Amino acid sequence: MLQSTSCTVNAPHKHSFLSPSSGFTMSLPRLLVSLAVVLSTAHAVAAEAVVSMELADPAAGQPNVFPHIPAASATDAGNAAKLTLIDGQRDGNGAQLTCLNDGKLADSADAPRSNFFLSPAVPSGRLLVEWDKPHKLHAIRSYSRHPDGRGPQRYAVYVRPTAKPAPAEALATDPKSAGSGWSLLAEVDTRPLGGAPAGCAVAITPDETDKAAAQRVGLGRHRYLLFVLEKVDPADRFGQTFYSEIDLDDGAEHPPAPKLPGRSTLEIEGGYAIDFDTTETPQLTAWVDKVLKPTCAEWYPKIVAAFPTEGYKPPKRFGITFRADMNGVAFTAGTNVVCAGPWFENNLQGEAAGAVVHELVHVVQQYRRGPNRTPGWLVEGLADYLRWFQYEPVENRPRPNLARAKYTDSYRTTAAFLDYVTRTYDAEAPAKLNDLSRRGEYTEQVWKDLTGRTADDLWLEYVQSQRNQ
Ligand SMILES: [Zn+2]
Repeated sequence: MLQSTSCTVNAPHKHSFLSPSSGFTMSLPRLLVSLAVVLSTAHAVAAEAVVSMELADPAAGQPNVFPHIPAASATDAGNAAKLTLIDGQRDGNGAQLTCLNDGKLADSADAPRSNFFLSPAVPSGRLLVEWDKPHKLHAIRSYSRHPDGRGPQRYAVYVRPTAKPAPAEALATDPKSAGSGWSLLAEVDTRPLGGAPAGCAVAITPDETDKAAAQRVGLGRHRYLLFVLEKVDPADRFGQTFYSEIDLDDGAEHPPAPKLPGRSTLEIEGGYAIDFDTTETPQLTAWVDKVLKPTCAEWYPKIVAAFPTEGYKPPKRFGITFRADMNGVAFTAGTNVVCAGPWFENNLQGEAAGAVVHELVHVVQQYRRGPNRTPGWLVEGLADYLRWFQYEPVENRPRPNLARAKYTDSYRTTAAFLDYVTRTYDAEAPAKLNDLSRRGEYTEQVWKDLTGRTADDLWLEYVQSQRNQ
């Protein structure tokens, strides 16, 4: 008997699911699940959407093979589309969005790196698909794989009736809000099928009751699609679906998107990995390969070792992306580093690598928010301490202007102050300050605990010691 389950519901018709070659017709007893299928597009613009879903049969010996839904395609119209996560957050332990478009499904039942999935911190995410012109969609197919709570798929697809480019703000509007311009094409929820150790596939296809209409209009002609991905189980921290592939079938063959030069992954000792992206700044790729990668390979593990906390696991995988159109130097959002291309181009011979070392410290820090939140000057001071007093050569060490500086000035000044405290009182001071900050236990009292003196007194001492030199 079929271990796999194939379900189709097409309100108001209870209707057959036909994959064109199989001629398989679903009988009602097989109809385990009732799915809400909604389509509100105007008459003759698109056929009604039918949602089919099935599990690969684990007993078949071959994962990712589905009774009726076709295998993932590497030449679907997704190759011609731009995919952007406009809301929610990618889980850095998983693959980039590009994995949804490579025609490859997960090679094991629990393969984070070959799946895209959202961070446990967000309840949902919005994935925008954009083409430069409308495509007539024949089918949308999505594939996932995981034995437990990350296996089922739960999402809604929206479309936008426009052939003209839409402004980014309009595309970012909540599709459920009135006047958003989005209309619901279909809702998917495969939770009744349970986990998917050998894979789960969903197909959204036009209702074939009127074959001619289905062929003529398909799911409609669309320039924009919006996938609203929901957490499988909102109460389950690890309830984000492992998506392996999303196929957008317009009946034509599209060559795979060319591998973008400037994207590469550096695997580092200790099981760490950094995804570099210089697609917007190709002039920086050679420097990244020659200088930055070796620097990161050496210093990420060193920073991890310098700033330990019991039970704390520093980010295993994160990105360093260079933006062409960005002011400033660099910042770290969550665990991902974003760098301003123009500044780096101007500083390759000087401070460029050190600026990234500073950001690597932020990736490792991950301080807790809360009542005893570490002040920003100390967060930056600790990052600059590892940078200027550990990484940079001695001759580059900062010397604050003592006439004007104070230890709360952040960055180099705070770093120089921390270096003084470290040399004079406690070699472990930076590690201890980091540990307390990560636990959310920093208070001004810690300076007294570490040195017997207040931070203000320590600063006066430091200034005096520098004047005496
Ligand atoms: Zn910083």
